Amino acid sequence: MKVLFVAGDPKPERWTAPIRELLPEAEVYVWDANGPAVDADYAIVWQPPSELFERETKLKAVFNLGAGIDGLLEIPNLPPHLPVVRLEDAGMSVQMAEYVLHQLLEASRGMEIYREQQRERVWKIHRPIKRSEWPVGIMGLGHIGKRVACTLADLDYRVNGWARSDHTLDKVSTFAGMNELPDFLGSTRVLVNTLPLTDETRDILNHQLFSQLMPGAVVINVGRGEHLVEEDLLKAIDDGHVARASLDVFRQEPLPADHPFWRQPEITITPHISARTLRDATLEQITGKIRTHYHNRPITGIVDTSRGY
Ligand code: NAP
Repeated sequence: MKVLFVAGDPKPERWTAPIRELLPEAEVYVWDANGPAVDADYAIVWQPPSELFERETKLKAVFNLGAGIDGLLEIPNLPPHLPVVRLEDAGMSVQMAEYVLHQLLEASRGMEIYREQQRERVWKIHRPIKRSEWPVGIMGLGHIGKRVACTLADLDYRVNGWARSDHTLDKVSTFAGMNELPDFLGSTRVLVNTLPLTDETRDILNHQLFSQLMPGAVVINVGRGEHLVEEDLLKAIDDGHVARASLDVFRQEPLPADHPFWRQPEITITPHISARTLRDATLEQITGKIRTHYHNRPITGIVDTSRGY
């Protein structure tokens, strides 16, 4: 079995050494832009060049080093029937739950006010949180959204979840499809986006959507930058529909230094760190699936390219 590693890491041995350990039966290669074809059976990729699919014509499957495969599906010569396998959780959902909880608490527990008071040496107690005033709505109930929803519901926040299909989740009110989106939004104050980027979800975080949220809305985007219409967020902050936003992903990354988001006090910016790819958990999952697939047994996480996730 031949496995080709294709990611722009300047130290690819950080990945290939554990791959060789976990998959001793494989010959492991690193992508060389000027090299010949190695006739790989499997490619493990992050943002691969399109030449990969011209040169490597024997691939049985391609494994993405991330949960979101929007970038991979945009490659024009990706063979239509080549199985594309996304990362399933691999330690990301717990990080995302932490990140979202942190951003929620900043707002619901008024942490900024206490930081401000500390600077002024002020000891002043504000009224305690009323959870009923902070209903949260999670867009996307996949590996990540579900974990976020259940974490917040366990802390007795009122949690709504929205997905394409029906879901049943303990302590979470669920909504499905565009028909139920208005009810979901109308009962949500803190909106958390964990959707994948597809033709249907691009630009979904727009002014029309923000205006349906409960007053004093908070927007937390950990999906993709292209979900958010950036000028609509600024407008919604300006006209009061959105009180604050926490953004981890952006249309252009790194976020340009002159971008208006940097100057907006209501916006918290993090540089795409809400859920990092954990090398050990990631490679354990991928090499396990490669072995299973090689022995013609079924694997989970194959992307439905027609729906885009
Ligand atoms: P997933 O398991 O595939 O779940 C996707 C969820 O979104 C599903 O519940 C799906 O509904 C729902 N969905 C998709 N299209 C929809 C639509 N048009 N309308 C309503 N719901 C829709 O994906 P995941 O592992 O949770 O990851 C989600 C995304 O998080 C990734 O694609 C990636 O963009 C992002 N991400 C970001 C970071 C970061 O560091 N910021 C890290 C990892 C992932 P159904 O359940 O009905 O199919």
